[in-house]
Amino acid sequence: MEVLKTKSKLKSVLKLLKEQNKSVGFVPTMGALHQGHLSLVKKALSENSHVVVSIFVNPTQFDKNEDLVNYPRTLAEDTELLNTVSEKIIVFSPSAKEIYSENVASERFSFDGLEFEMEGKFRDGHFDGVGTILKKFFEIIMPNNAYFGEKDFQQFRIVQKLVEKLDLPINIIGCDIYRESHGLAMSSRNERLSKDTRQQAAFIYKTLLTAKNRFVKNSANEVKKWVIKEFEKHPTLDLEYIEIANIKTLKPLVRKSKNQKYRAFIAVFADNIRLIDNIALN
Ligand code: AMP
Repeated sequence: MEVLKTKSKLKSVLKLLKEQNKSVGFVPTMGALHQGHLSLVKKALSENSHVVVSIFVNPTQFDKNEDLVNYPRTLAEDTELLNTVSEKIIVFSPSAKEIYSENVASERFSFDGLEFEMEGKFRDGHFDGVGTILKKFFEIIMPNNAYFGEKDFQQFRIVQKLVEKLDLPINIIGCDIYRESHGLAMSSRNERLSKDTRQQAAFIYKTLLTAKNRFVKNSANEVKKWVIKEFEKHPTLDLEYIEIANIKTLKPLVRKSKNQKYRAFIAVFADNIRLIDNIALN
């Protein structure tokens, strides 16, 4: 498996592939890979002749330096795991200096309001950081297709908006949320939960499933109130927010409309670890 560290090396590999009209899929990650990441990689491999997986802990998308410093960096294990899927994968694992030179700063973006909802309210500057790194990666790689997990649904919508605004010819493809057997959405953060809390965190998805059922006959407000009460009763999980929003605008749902699609979005603290999840409601 090729592990490339520099933009110039990656560009020269991709130039050859593009000259041969090969399609390139791109899966951006911050490493500490798990089966959720691999599900994106497998989808990309099935739809493209070559796949680039970036492993880069992007400094500009962290609002707390402590989180950036503590983010797991496990390149050897990650490449080993990717190798079990396909030896053909091209891994791009640059240093921060290679990407940002001396200027580790975000560009400012407007995502037409998508950035102000939910995660945008709780993670200052996060989506500018995401936009900054993806714009750089898209310009270097120019993939045909790029793959994003619906676990970070707001991010997925923002990336669609980014390529629309930059007028880049890249298909942004959303991928299903990959879950542990008891339902908890897979995340590198799950590794930091105690065994007991990890088990208890299955309550998040269980509650989302019931919320979905309740949404058939109840208003968004009624469903949200019910979720808040469920978490108030829970001994260890702390709800940060529950929102029901239109999947296009990400604005909170006020009145249901038959031809619109909605999702419920949730953020919860377990053992002081912040977990997010979401579910399609209709
Ligand atoms: P990250 O390394 O956390 O930045 O995630 C890289 C990509 O993997 C993002 O597009 C995530 O949405 C996606 N991803 C992470 N966890 C999951 C999961 N459990 N199911 C599906 N996609 C995921």
